[in-house]
Amino acid sequence: MTCIFCDIVHKKIPSDIIFENGALVAFQDIHPKAPVHVLIVPKKHVVSVNEFTKEDAPDIAALVLAAPVVAEAVGVKDGYKLAFNVGRKGGQLVDHVHIHLLAWPNDPEGKKEVASV
Ligand code: AMP
Ligand code: ZN
Repeated sequence: MTCIFCDIVHKKIPSDIIFENGALVAFQDIHPKAPVHVLIVPKKHVVSVNEFTKEDAPDIAALVLAAPVVAEAVGVKDGYKLAFNVGRKGGQLVDHVHIHLLAWPNDPEGKKEVASV
């Protein structure tokens, strides 16, 4: 099975890693859709939110708990969005579940509308 995010997790291909722990890795999106765009990716290969099971609860918690850590690391803890794309019709192109962390730190109003990522 070829999975680009597994390759990033296992350091087979390079990425700009911001944060890593036993459960996940967070790295810069290669085609950012916002001034700040980081992906938070579990080390375990799970296709999408639809494939999560109760056994994945610790990983799911770790993903969410990593968000403020990542946000602080990139200087946007005062305001950011988190998004999961689920399935092709939900905009998901990489079949390894991930959270998009997006921020517009120089927009004084913040971002009101939901971004397409
Ligand atoms: P999604 O459409 O939700 O599956 O999002 C996949 C995201 O992965 C997109 O925003 C891509 O820009 C990003 N992406 C794809 N390949 C890489 C890569 N090698 N390194 C970093 N980000 C990537
Ligand atoms: Zn994978």
